[in-house]
Amino acid sequence: MNAFPPHQRSLPPADGMTEAERARILAKAALFPPPPMVDADGRRDLLGLSRAELEAEMVALGEKPFRARQLWHWIYHQGERDFARMSTIARPTQAKLAERFVIGRPAIAAEQTSQDGTRKWLFSWRDGQQVETVFIPEEDRGAVCISTQVGCTLSCRFCHTGTQKLVRNLGAAEIVGQFMAARDAYGEWPTPKGGSGNKDAGGEGRLLSNIVVMGMGEPLYNYENVAKALTIIMDHEGIGLSRRRITLSTSGVVPMMDKCGAELGVNLAVSLHAVTDDLRDELVPLNRKYPIAELLAACRRYPGASNARRITFEYVMLRGVNDSEADARELVRLLRGIPAKVNLIPFNPWPGSAYRTSTPEALRRFAEIVNAAGYSSPIRRPRGRDILAACGQLKTESERARRA
Ligand code: SAH
Ligand code: SF4
Repeated sequence: MNAFPPHQRSLPPADGMTEAERARILAKAALFPPPPMVDADGRRDLLGLSRAELEAEMVALGEKPFRARQLWHWIYHQGERDFARMSTIARPTQAKLAERFVIGRPAIAAEQTSQDGTRKWLFSWRDGQQVETVFIPEEDRGAVCISTQVGCTLSCRFCHTGTQKLVRNLGAAEIVGQFMAARDAYGEWPTPKGGSGNKDAGGEGRLLSNIVVMGMGEPLYNYENVAKALTIIMDHEGIGLSRRRITLSTSGVVPMMDKCGAELGVNLAVSLHAVTDDLRDELVPLNRKYPIAELLAACRRYPGASNARRITFEYVMLRGVNDSEADARELVRLLRGIPAKVNLIPFNPWPGSAYRTSTPEALRRFAEIVNAAGYSSPIRRPRGRDILAACGQLKTESERARRA
């Protein structure tokens, strides 16, 4: 079976250096592996296995390969976790499966709901590590923001997660598991047929209609697990979320952006945050390796980018640092020729952070200039202000409480 969906394209021709760089990034990711997906009683987790792997498990058990297809439907379409309730599977087989396997979910270590409906979970994994997942409801749709790493190797100056060192990568089961646990919380099983709650769009009421890979960690430094998880999520016989409803945010891991575009074809968001290399070197230290010009070149060749599917440029607004009118004009110049929208994010302060949020006036003027140049530039409404909304903060607070 194909590991990747049918829209797969081939990678653009790369020189040897790019190939070597990709190999180096993948090898480094492998140094921070997730723990084995096995419960204390020895039963293995079926969540996060590719279709081919699930099939191999069934064959090893003496079952026909189609058993994997049935299971896939139960796990990812019905959201069922109890083998005894899988009515298309014979009782003895159910028992055999239950002896050897589980269909896992993270444990909920903490949960908060904001007055505006934003909901945040702190999930725990088998090894006790924790990450945050956020659900942001909107009128006719809702996005689940998922994490990809415990901590992050990059140390962006304004990011709270950047203050936590990388502990490890999340496995595919843990990445898919965040979305499935969020769906559990809203009882959104079996998978609704439509794309979103918008009936005009032919939707049938998917509340959890979109995924943004914008939680803790750098997804392109954990590419293989992220790709595996998103492939499962996009599978038509399961969760069936379209790649158009998935947005992956990167701080700019240039060699992996091509691979992501060719193999996954999801929407791309790029954390730009500065218009000069000097400032970006400071705010997003990865810029020293992949400077703005290289980053924008990768955006220009990102497959599928069009006016209908624009690349989102995230720009965190830091008072007196990157929020002048000159910055806005330079941003417009840099983006010329890229089908882009700009997401202006008011800086979300956290205890000990060195920055302040831009004034509403600076935000408004900045947005006006970008808008006038023809780029949509919504100012992201601060959501969940009454809960610890800055990414990574719930985790830190909960650790502090445990120590106390
Ligand atoms: N590592 C990826 C994805 C996770 S961060 C990336 O950097 O793109 C998701 C987004 O949140 C990024 O644009 C990041 O710059 C932004 N962000 C991080 N800390 C923030 C803060 N305190 N206030 C506002 N935005 C923040
Ligand atoms: Fe990591 Fe993204 Fe935070 Fe930078 S902004 S430290 S890449 S999670």
